[in-house]
Amino acid sequence: MTTAIGVVITDHIAAARLEELQLAGKVLRYPGDPDQVGALEAIPDSELVDLLAQQIKSLADGKAGPDKADRIDADRIDAIGVAVPGFVRSGVIEESPNLPQMKGTRLADQLTAALKERGISAPVHIANDADAIAAGVAATRGRLDKLTRVWTIGNGIGYGRWPHAEGVWEGGHITVTLDPKERYCGCGGIGHLEGIMGYRAMRLRFLDLEPEEVFANAKTGDVRCRHFVDLWHRALAAATASFIHLAGPGRFYFTGKNVDFLELPLLRTHLETMVRMSPLQSFSLETLASDDEIALIGAGVSALRAVSR
Ligand SMILES: [Zn+2]
Repeated sequence: MTTAIGVVITDHIAAARLEELQLAGKVLRYPGDPDQVGALEAIPDSELVDLLAQQIKSLADGKAGPDKADRIDADRIDAIGVAVPGFVRSGVIEESPNLPQMKGTRLADQLTAALKERGISAPVHIANDADAIAAGVAATRGRLDKLTRVWTIGNGIGYGRWPHAEGVWEGGHITVTLDPKERYCGCGGIGHLEGIMGYRAMRLRFLDLEPEEVFANAKTGDVRCRHFVDLWHRALAAATASFIHLAGPGRFYFTGKNVDFLELPLLRTHLETMVRMSPLQSFSLETLASDDEIALIGAGVSALRAVSR
């Protein structure tokens, strides 16, 4: 029987215990109030590490379970997986536009040390959040031996894949247009996918409208908004077509806070104009509800896989 602890950092922290890759007991959440936004941005990186260690300790102590029998011996935890938004390499967060204080944090080393002080010595594995979602989808659908790709649509645009492959995979920053006026990406690059699709980028483009209003107005026939919503879908189609031309067709999943903006039939229509070679046309597209559960499972799966390697 494998026991893992999964932790996911988005605009909040979620943590849960996993038995045999299934959620066991309650999911811990910080902050407790889901309406409190931007709570993590204000926390210095060392305090954030302590907060993570505290949550993991609470789970190990069985504080999230129905009774004390839920307590697990610290040496029974096989692995601890943490999913974070950003570019992660060897346990170091090399870039994290949405949690800038974490840039350069040696999260695996620092969290391992903070856990050791609390009597927990299980190996810690850090994964990119979109990669964790891909791992979670693969695990919950019995597809751990297949290529699974995920787009996360939020403030930024994330690209995740399972199985883990060496590389950078910053799919949200793939160039989808040569128009020099497309300069809204958070990284500063011209023509990037996130510069069109990201929430922050949309607010910069439409100074007079919130992104929700842009999508609503498009539905009622506003030409400027309709034109943009079409561009938004064409950009995602272009990026997806590029990955199909590189790694082949297969399944693509779409999730994230703003996945409701996505119209799959419109995406498919554009994608079909971009992928014309018949062996590559057997792709499938599916949206997933945006919740923590799949990423928590994926964080655990990635950690267990990394430990057994
Ligand atoms: Zn970019």
